[in-house]
Amino acid sequence: MSTATEEKIRELRARFRGNVLMAGEHGYETARKVWNGMFDKRPLLIARCVTTGDVIEAVKFGREHKMLVAVKGGGHNSAGKATCDDGLIIDLSPMRRVLVDREDNHVRVDGGALLGDMDNETQLYGLAVSAGIVSHTGVGGLTLGGGFGWISRKHGLSVDNLLSAQVVTAEGELLTASATENPDLFWGLRGGGGNFGIVTSFTFKGAPIGNTVFAGIIAKKFQNAADYIAFHQHYVRTLPDEMTVWMVLRKAPPLPFLPEEVHGSLVVLVPFVYLGSEEEGGRLIQPLIDRTDSHGMITGMMPWKEWQSGFDGLVDHGARNYWKSHHLTSLSEECVREILTFAERLPTEECEIFIPHMEGAPAKVAADTTAFAHRYTPFVLNIHTRWREKSDDERCLAWAREFHEATTRFAHGVYVNFLSDEGKTRVRDAYTDEVWERLVRLKKKYDPDNFFRLNQNIEPTG
Ligand SMILES: Cc1cc2nc3c(=O)[nH]c(=O)nc-3n(C[C@H](O)[C@H](O)[C@H](O)COP(=O)(O)OP(=O)(O)OC[C@H]3O[C@@H](n4cnc5c(N)ncnc54)[C@H](O)[C@@H]3O)c2cc1C
Repeated sequence: MSTATEEKIRELRARFRGNVLMAGEHGYETARKVWNGMFDKRPLLIARCVTTGDVIEAVKFGREHKMLVAVKGGGHNSAGKATCDDGLIIDLSPMRRVLVDREDNHVRVDGGALLGDMDNETQLYGLAVSAGIVSHTGVGGLTLGGGFGWISRKHGLSVDNLLSAQVVTAEGELLTASATENPDLFWGLRGGGGNFGIVTSFTFKGAPIGNTVFAGIIAKKFQNAADYIAFHQHYVRTLPDEMTVWMVLRKAPPLPFLPEEVHGSLVVLVPFVYLGSEEEGGRLIQPLIDRTDSHGMITGMMPWKEWQSGFDGLVDHGARNYWKSHHLTSLSEECVREILTFAERLPTEECEIFIPHMEGAPAKVAADTTAFAHRYTPFVLNIHTRWREKSDDERCLAWAREFHEATTRFAHGVYVNFLSDEGKTRVRDAYTDEVWERLVRLKKKYDPDNFFRLNQNIEPTG
């Protein structure tokens, strides 16, 4: 039971640089929301931090008053971990500063920044930090789970580019985590999620990618999907790490390069990014264009920032979402057959079957370097179930669960950031046994009371 009295809250407010919000106050309704509309929770307090000092105050307050504490970065965790009923949200979203050091391409990013904030600043210098593909996602949660996107096959995961972090621990102590300071904590932050503390700032190595990339989307006809995927899964694995090609099976959104009659029909979208010349990128993508018929395509040199926000509208805030995922060991014929069966039964226009190709730089980092564990997976299967009406919950959840179950025999492991609330055993699947044991030891050391537990939780007792 929390002991946060009105007087204690008043005292906290007096010490706080940002705002501390309660129900009924201006800003509370917006601040309590997270990306996934399934989670409609009402915390007692929302501490909107603007400084590291605020974060420390909030942690100490939550601890002293035995409150359930959620930490909110970009609020995009599909399992809704950044919010809670009755407790305290430590909201980092006002902390979004990004500073680029031109001398060494180091990029210092506040704990509540969004990917778009990071691209916006780094692109001033022709740099990018390897991260995800939707600009309104939070740097915080994404990085702490691993972080991959269009340039990670060439430049590594977000965690592979992390140089150091400022961390507020469960005791409210401020630590630096890097290869030389608290290296055990640094290891755990790189894949162990928000289990060990609140990162108020990350320092990354930026990659000099320039301001444009050769990129595009090919929309393949669904009727030839089996043939196309058989070729795709083999071909993309032969490509240099500069080229990243993914696959999305979904109902065609109204993309301007598609004829109107195709909108709303089942297609295989093939988005790609090449870090190199248009000529060489064009040569590398041609075999995928030639294989089976397409409804249309768009390809060319594109501004990186535009590409990075090009998919934002398809996954905007507030819809109901349920994600299931696992790493596929291969896209065998049998596995593709299951995928296509479920594609034909997509429960809504907004659902997607998302199949990124992962190999490349992440697999060149030694397995024990970070807590991010499954570095050698070729493909991820993401079942993005997305709908608007509560009355569709049962139907949509059932589709996702059945699909996941039907493809489990082709899978090994999962990315922690793509988990829903699937229970303790499933969190373990994001790690190898060695990594898990090390994470539990670390949790015992840095958060023995499991103060940070609204996450894909690693209990200190294992
Ligand atoms: C539309 C969309 C697109 C996505 N695309 C990608 C992608 O391309 N690549 C990829 O790797 N992942 C992707 N993801 C998954 C994403 O990595 C996770 O959803 C991640 O949890 C989002 O982080 P957040 O800060 O926005 O979320 P939040 O819900 O705010 O936080 C997620 C978890 O991290 C903790 N946390 C957040 N910030 C901090 C911090 N600074 N310090 C300590 N703990 C913190 C929270 O407490 C919570 O437990 C995507 C998700 C969505 C919804």
